[in-house]
Amino acid sequence: MTPLSELAQGQRYPAATLYVVATPIGNIADITLRALHVLGLVDRIAAEDTCNTGQLLARYDISKPMLAAHQHNEREAAQSLIEHLQAGERIAYVSDAGTPGISDPGSKLVDAVREAGLNVVPLPGASALATALSAAGDWVSTFSFLGFLPPKAKARATALQPLAKHPHAMVFYEAPHRIVETVQALADAFGGQRRLLIARELTKLHEALHRGTLAEAPKWLETDPNRQRGEFVLVVEGAPQEAAGEQDHDALLVKLLEKLTVSSAAKVAASLTGASRNALYARALAFKKDEEE
Ligand code: SAM
Repeated sequence: MTPLSELAQGQRYPAATLYVVATPIGNIADITLRALHVLGLVDRIAAEDTCNTGQLLARYDISKPMLAAHQHNEREAAQSLIEHLQAGERIAYVSDAGTPGISDPGSKLVDAVREAGLNVVPLPGASALATALSAAGDWVSTFSFLGFLPPKAKARATALQPLAKHPHAMVFYEAPHRIVETVQALADAFGGQRRLLIARELTKLHEALHRGTLAEAPKWLETDPNRQRGEFVLVVEGAPQEAAGEQDHDALLVKLLEKLTVSSAAKVAASLTGASRNALYARALAFKKDEEE
């Protein structure tokens, strides 16, 4: 049987190409054989933090010229990277942890390299998003990834408000110092009934997965300060079907009100959806008033 490391070598790795390489999110062993092969093969490694990535590379005996490309210099770094690529180099890009471009730098580099007519090849691997979802369960069959919420309370509440009727599960990233207030803000915006998965320190020594509801989660976190330490992925259940249905009804009513009176729009919407004509009338009236104001 072919050794696995040879399978990684068996593929073609063209020159003048940017390789976007996922790295571990905690456990250093979570790196693919292909990632190690490509990191060993490229001419240069661009990294969000050259010091961090240097430590990872040292663990695998890889030493390469490095270039810093982080959120504050991504555009300028792209120019330098493009020049090296145009000279025929293979370059790998790695972020601090997990998959570049997922709440991490990388996407601007990818755009710039593509716009310069050069190749981009992604190498899959760890991501906190996929890792948390893989252990969430059947209630998360569809989801939206929202990344980090705004740090300030008012902006966070404003960002959450339109998501209250979102029918799919929602995945958020959060840092330890804001975890309690963010979970509380989710409960305030969505109500306490929704299911919540708190995935903490995935793949690390203090990994913990807590499944509960938004109502009990702030207290659960506060019971033991250790529960608030580390890195977090939050997976929140989407709006119940009726609420999602209401959203569709609203869209239908708005469309019907372009041509019909409030009463006719409610009547037509009721016959199309089977929902209560009185409730639809009240909704349509509110839209009409908003429009007139
Ligand atoms: N690019 C990364 C990925 O693919 O998941 C995400 C980078 S983002 C700057 C860092 C955030 O990801 C953390 O604040 C946390 O919300 C989440 N995260 C990263 N590693 C994690 C881990 N081991 N356990 C839980 N969440 C993690």
